[in-house]
Parts: sequence; C-alpha cells; structure tokens
Amino acid sequence: MRGRDFCRGCNSQRVFIALNLGFSPLANRLVEAENLESAEPWYPLVLRVCENCCLGQLGEFNSDFEIFRDYPYLSSTSSTWLESNKNFAKTMIEQLNLQTEDLVLEIASNDGYLLQYFQQSQVEVLGIEPALNVATIASINGIPTSPEFFSENLAKKLITKIKSPRLVIAKNVVAHVPDLRDFLRGISVLASSDTLVVFEAPTITNIINKMQFDTIYHEHFSYLSASFFDKILPEFKLKLSGIEKVETHGGSLRFFITTDHSGVELPKTVITSLHKTLLEEQSVNLTDLSRWEALSDLVGKSLIEFRNWVLNSNNPMIGYGAAAKAVTLLSAAQIPRDSILFCIDNSEGKINHFMPGHQIPIISEAEFKLNYEVNSYNILIFPWNLKKEISERIRSFAPNSHIFVALPKVEEV
Ligand SMILES: [Zn+2]
Repeated sequence: MRGRDFCRGCNSQRVFIALNLGFSPLANRLVEAENLESAEPWYPLVLRVCENCCLGQLGEFNSDFEIFRDYPYLSSTSSTWLESNKNFAKTMIEQLNLQTEDLVLEIASNDGYLLQYFQQSQVEVLGIEPALNVATIASINGIPTSPEFFSENLAKKLITKIKSPRLVIAKNVVAHVPDLRDFLRGISVLASSDTLVVFEAPTITNIINKMQFDTIYHEHFSYLSASFFDKILPEFKLKLSGIEKVETHGGSLRFFITTDHSGVELPKTVITSLHKTLLEEQSVNLTDLSRWEALSDLVGKSLIEFRNWVLNSNNPMIGYGAAAKAVTLLSAAQIPRDSILFCIDNSEGKINHFMPGHQIPIISEAEFKLNYEVNSYNILIFPWNLKKEISERIRSFAPNSHIFVALPKVEEV
C-alpha cells in the first residue's frame, strides 16, 4: 500500500514509523443526525517518513471519490484568509506582469475565493475543483470551474484546449493528493518555460518544532518540505526555484516551482529563502528515527495533560471551530464522549451536523446566543492557528467564558 509499504513520493520501501497516534475516524466526514446510531469506522493514524526523499506520509484506505466529492469546507468564510489571498493575487499579477491574454489555473479552486481577484484584473482564469457542491457555487459566481480531479490524464486533455498557463496555483491541495507522482506528471504536462507553479502546504518541520501533530489526519496524505521537492522534482523535469514562508495553518511553505529550463525570474528573497530553508531542514534531521522517538514521548505527555485538563474542567467544556485537527486531537487523547457539549462553527455546511468520532453537535453562533449565552464555559479553540481572530470573536458573544487552546500546551488565551 502506498504511504505504508512504499513511499508515495519516490516509491522507495525505506519508510519508517515516525509517529503513531492510534485510531481516528475520517476527520472531514461530518455525521448527519439520522446516522448517529450507525458505527463510524476508525482507522489507524500513523505517520511514516521516507528515508530516501524525507516525505512524511499516511497510508491510504479509501477512494478519492468518497473523501472529496462532498467536501464541506468553503474557504471564503474567513476574512483574514480572503485578505491574504487578495494580496497574493496582486503580488503575482505584478511579479509575472500578467495581461488579459494570460491564463491563471488553480487546482482545488474551491468556491473561487482566489481566482476572483485575478478575474477582477481581467486576467483569464480556470478553476479545477473536485468537490461537486463547491464547484457549482464557483460556476454560479462566474468563475469558470471544471468539476474534476486533477491528474496527468486531465492535464493532457486540458492542454489540447487551453494555452499553457502563466501561473498554476495549488494551495493546500498537494498534501491531500493520493497519487502524488501522477499529480506532478500532470503539472509537468501543463508547465512551459514561462510557467510559474505555486504550491502551498504546511511544513513537516512544524510537527517536530512546534508540536503540530494535530495537523495529521487521514485526508492529509503527504507532509511536505523543501528537501522533498528539491530532491523529487527533477524527475518530472521541474525544479524547486524558491520558497516563501507564510502564516497559513500555523506556518506553511509556499513552493515556487518552474520547469528545469525556465525563463521565469523570481525575486532574490525567495531564492535566498530556499537555501536557508534547506539548511534549516537539514538541521531538523527529518529522516532521523531518534528525532521522531523523542517527539513521540512529548506528544504522549501532551495528550495525557490535555485529557486530564478536559476531565477536571471546572466549567462545562465547549469547542470552537469544527476543524479536522479537532478530530485528531480528541481521538488521539482518547477524550470520553460527551466531555465536550457542543462545538460552535459558522460554516453553512457544518451547522446541525456532528463532528466525526465523538459526535459532538455543531451549532452556530446565533444558536449559542439564543440558548446558551448566559452560562460560563471553558471554550476550546481547535484551530489554534486562528486563535487571535477567533478569541476576539468569542469575547464579543460569550463575555462570561474562558478561552483556551490545547497546543503546543493547554493555555488560556
Ligand atoms: Zn520517498
């Protein structure tokens, strides 16, 4: 099995167990009220690392179709997120001097949250989005969107109909692709010498350096690094040409990729940052088993502390943000059911559903205000990466409550 018996990046069999988090249900599979009685499957959640290419990875267990066809996440719900995407589009338009006749293609374009900003500057856009419900919303909003999985086959079909894009964007998608090599072959088909490809993904080094082990969940197949792309891309006639560090998801890398004979000029800062990041990753020593054993000890201790804190809470516990990382944290810490009364989340697709595994009801802020506001709670923010924005929000509607994050350690915000 790919990701378990051999590496999904380089096919090597030299993969070792880096971190074992026990069992967990599929983190993005929300439960509907009528299905509460039926048992959900839980699967082993084990991170492996390849000694050859240093890719962190999870084994597969389920078809792409089941995981992605009805994906509840609409990225346009966060204002900070939209602002950073607007800035990114502006920078790319200036840097590449994009004109009306140029094409920007985004893979996993969601509801058009990013492409809209290119479109507003009259640059041609095309979105590829496998989640049918989300692709439909994008099309209704006027963003041309193809409801498909990106693959080498799709790229070959597309390139007969479209010009080679000046910019290909895949933000927070590469890590979720089951067949990574096929995906990279597809990128290679689309890219010409004046194409810039931008990937964005959380970096595996943050799992070690910042205890971000709750970013591990089944739909997140690959845990990426500059070292991995630097090593693997030449096989696909591509090259890692620059790196930018961004704040998304508590610290992500933006990978600037070109063809191996590229005419794209990149700013000096991203080229310098690439060399720096490669050196930093070497010092973290991602392929050193003892490094991961030390982390496993720390994670074990942190989970026990978190569990004790939940069980001894002086106030009723509720959550904020029904994110995938919540499912990993609650499962790995073996938090008993009903310890968290409900979870507040304003995403349309999540309200009135239940979080996987612990089946915690998801309610909106409006419902909280209506039925629960007067009480005092301990509110745990699951997406710690957005704690500033979320805690300000919580204070506005739950002034009597105490606000916490669980990682890297339990802390009042
Ligand atoms: Zn490998």
